[in-house]
Amino acid sequence: MAYSAPRGTVDILPEVSGKWQELEQLLRTICANYNVKEMRTPIFEHTELFSRAVGDTTDVVTKEMYSFADKKGRSITLRPEGTAGIARSYVENKLYALPEKLQKYYYMGPMFRYERPQNGRQRQFHQFGVEMIGLESPYVDVECMVMAVTVVEALGLKDITLHINSLGDEASRDAYREALKQHFAPVLNELCYDCQQRFEKNPLRILDCKVDKDHSAMKDAPRTIDYLSESAKEHFDKVCSLLDDLEIDYVIDTNLVRGLDYYSHTVFEVISDDPKLGAGATVGAGGRYNSLISELGGPDNPGVGFAFGMERLMIALGDDNNEEDGLDVYIMPLGHEAKDLAMQILTMLRANGFTCDMDQCDRGLKGQFKSADRYHAHFSMIIGEEEVQKEVVNMKCNHSKEQSIVPLENIVAFIENHYEGGDHHE
Ligand code: ATP
Ligand code: MG
Repeated sequence: MAYSAPRGTVDILPEVSGKWQELEQLLRTICANYNVKEMRTPIFEHTELFSRAVGDTTDVVTKEMYSFADKKGRSITLRPEGTAGIARSYVENKLYALPEKLQKYYYMGPMFRYERPQNGRQRQFHQFGVEMIGLESPYVDVECMVMAVTVVEALGLKDITLHINSLGDEASRDAYREALKQHFAPVLNELCYDCQQRFEKNPLRILDCKVDKDHSAMKDAPRTIDYLSESAKEHFDKVCSLLDDLEIDYVIDTNLVRGLDYYSHTVFEVISDDPKLGAGATVGAGGRYNSLISELGGPDNPGVGFAFGMERLMIALGDDNNEEDGLDVYIMPLGHEAKDLAMQILTMLRANGFTCDMDQCDRGLKGQFKSADRYHAHFSMIIGEEEVQKEVVNMKCNHSKEQSIVPLENIVAFIENHYEGGDHHE
């Protein structure tokens, strides 16, 4: 039988894993810059956590979860998103009792959703996300949004727009839900089956429908911002004026509601028009969730956060500057004795912090030089019978093409001098 990876999963092969590490490193640096600390939560959680936190009527919970019973019959789910786990951990570990009222976390790792795989959509995919929990302040909404914009700017992504909207507080959403129902009631039988369900359970979700998105009733649907309570409007106005002050470009997108249930007040998406992703692709999204923590049994602490799809960031990044770091030394032994000596030198050089490798295939010079090339080795170290006898090695600098005979005990000093003395080291 021939094995293949399950549909919707992807192997990240060595030729691209370096680029993933670069992306991860850049994200970690930005987090350090923003004083946001990493939180690592389990890849699986109790299913109830997601149905409670994400919402029973959402696509994620009703259609997309990887759930199974474990050996004791507990219902377990592979995490479809990161916020629920962080919120659970925040409550369980009583992080709300820490002296800093505003806690800021980030996470990075695989998420699982049963979806139809396509460009930028997988069943196992990766998210980088940030949560800022503890304050209701619009300043924190904006800190979050600025951070999301910083991410795409640092990656050099072009054709990016920040879309924002406000769902308001409980009272605003009650009024808005009523208005939506009145608006969609006359055309309900023209909408998809899902939307008819949503109409009863959660009419906001209708605006998030991918099937009915071009229906005429979508275009003139009531706008959340017309139903905001006084205080919700004040919050949203402050968010907008802070963004203006910081000269962050944004558009108010009144149909933006987001697919997960826990959002209130500010919601936002970072949308890319990069043709590699297809126009209008969402690379990152987030918003405020004021009742999530209390719903999970914690105090009434509000939060705000966002998540980026890392595969979509990788696609938008494209294939350029894939220049791989090379080896310092590739060791090329000729014959058995030389190979024994090569193994000694290899181990010694690695212990000294150099990046090196050696030929393990007992090939001739030509094949070994090809490997030195493929690995972008700075030096090729040739060890033949004569070198073994004289206790030296032949060092060829692959940049200057210069060759030097170096006594065994001087190898480290030779490489260091070479790097320090010249402009060879990239
Ligand atoms: P979409 O509308 O594209 O399905 P979503 O609203 O379900 O996105 P969120 O739950 O907000 O997405 O997740 C945040 C980000 O994670 C998305 O903007 C996207 O970049 C990424 N993402 C979501 N689902 C997938 C997936 N199946 N494969 C790859 N990336 C994904
Ligand atoms: Mg989705």
